[in-house]
Amino acid sequence: MLKEKILISACLLGIPCRYDGRDNKIKNLTLLQEQFELIPVCPEQLGGLSTPRCPCEIQKNKVISREGKDYTREFQKGAEESLKLAKQWNIKTALLKAKSPSCGFGQIYDGSFSRKLITGNGLTAALLEKEGIQIFSETELDKFFKKLYNELTIK
Ligand code: SF4
Repeated sequence: MLKEKILISACLLGIPCRYDGRDNKIKNLTLLQEQFELIPVCPEQLGGLSTPRCPCEIQKNKVISREGKDYTREFQKGAEESLKLAKQWNIKTALLKAKSPSCGFGQIYDGSFSRKLITGNGLTAALLEKEGIQIFSETELDKFFKKLYNELTIK
């Protein structure tokens, strides 16, 4: 049986693409890899940013680095490139890194670089959701498995 393709933040797979050159590898990776075909994406790298890079947060409608530089265009490009990949692979579900200004879904940092959270989505998560892709963050793995398991048993 063909496995469902899931778009996943590359850092969750252990790829060291974070702003500080580290990763966010998740524990249940083996289970995920057994059940799904994982398509990794790092929107910030796809947007042309290097690794490591200066951390950024969303301030109003812009993405600003801790040094005060505007990187909105790069983040927007990364979101568009990620959407292209999702469409190319006919992806319906994405598993994205929580709180990131690209991948965060539901909650993101508030733009003050003080680790305070506010309600909101990263640019990539917002675009994917707008295009009808269902998004989970890695903090919702139980919910993610439950939903996909139910779909598989209903089919
Ligand atoms: S942009 Fe997304 S995939 Fe890339 S490092 Fe940040 S959270 Fe991970």
